[in-house]
Amino acid sequence: MEAVNRLNLVIEDPHLDTDLKAIALKVFNNQRITFEEGVTLYKKGELGYLGVLANYIREKKNGNFTYFNRNFHIEPTNLCVYDCKFCSYSRLIKERSEGWEATMDEMLELVKKYDNEPITEVHIVGGVLPQYNMQFYMDLFSAIKKHRPNLHVKALTPVEYHYIFKKAKVDYATGMRMMKEAGLESMPGGGAEIFAPEIREQIANDKCNAEQWLAIHEEWHKLGMHSNATMLYGHIEEYHHRVDHMERLRALQDKTGGFQTFIPLKFRNKDNQMSHVPESTVIEDLRNYAIARIYLDNFQHIKAYWAMISRDTAQLSLSFGVDDIDGTLDDTTKIYSMAGAEEQTPAMSTQQLVELIKQVGRHPIERDTLYNVVTDYNEVAFEEKDGKKANYYSLPVLN
Ligand code: SF4
Repeated sequence: MEAVNRLNLVIEDPHLDTDLKAIALKVFNNQRITFEEGVTLYKKGELGYLGVLANYIREKKNGNFTYFNRNFHIEPTNLCVYDCKFCSYSRLIKERSEGWEATMDEMLELVKKYDNEPITEVHIVGGVLPQYNMQFYMDLFSAIKKHRPNLHVKALTPVEYHYIFKKAKVDYATGMRMMKEAGLESMPGGGAEIFAPEIREQIANDKCNAEQWLAIHEEWHKLGMHSNATMLYGHIEEYHHRVDHMERLRALQDKTGGFQTFIPLKFRNKDNQMSHVPESTVIEDLRNYAIARIYLDNFQHIKAYWAMISRDTAQLSLSFGVDDIDGTLDDTTKIYSMAGAEEQTPAMSTQQLVELIKQVGRHPIERDTLYNVVTDYNEVAFEEKDGKKANYYSLPVLN
């Protein structure tokens, strides 16, 4: 059944709550929902209802396409001057023996390791340490671009930029311009966590605040550049904090149009200072993707990190607003595994990722960082394994 017909069935349901019906009508009429309506979706929206609305918007914006890209990660260090309570990845400087600190040469060696691989992007992010200062990162970006000009450098978040600009005594606008001149091409979405100060102060007290995070993205967008945005959810925040977070992103996006993708990040509780906080359920994860898709009407893409939520949930998410599954990662990132993600060695070949997307009836597209099509995999046939073809099925929840 077409997404629009499913939406009509929802709207015509005589038993549907009146608030939910009003929201479904707004979605049908392409109207923006309010803050209060966002909270209503979290409080009252059942999974099936949310999936119908989110899938309608997803297909209107991105059709059946599901994007992925091929990247590798450089994580300069897992030592950090900050002490975010949810972080399983970092070690304080006093725990130096448990961490790593990569030199410039080691990072460039890693780049060279991929010289003959069809990779389009390097994603650089890690802990915050004084020796990784502004000059260090400018040298790193220009060295990478000199070695491989076509490799897109997506690097660092406002957490690092706020820290290194402050140390170098440059304002955000000047700092971001200098980074661009050195070779930076995109900013990933990390460090956003939850913007609301009453929650942020409890889980990530000492790093950049919401206003600073947003201001750095705004300066970057003013240069004509793009970035992503994340939200860490499912810990001590309440529903209205999630809506507040998305509201602030939606407002900045209205102003600049520079965000490409919103990435909800599920809080994981392994080996961190919030291990007593239970994790969200898969149902809540899917509801959250769907509400993000409905609320963020000016974001083109919603992304799921398959390594973080498991391959099965990633497949499901494609029916709840998600149109992008992050990368054919290899084991160059430890961010997910150290936080207790499903995937302890997050490696997936292009064939596996394409099959994962096709199994749920979606159209796989390899993209570059800016969503230009690199390869359309819909008609690409891989060798059959053990004489068996991939199964195709549609998700029962929407039928
Ligand atoms: S989340 Fe980032 S800034 Fe916070 S402690 Fe971990 S590495 Fe450092």
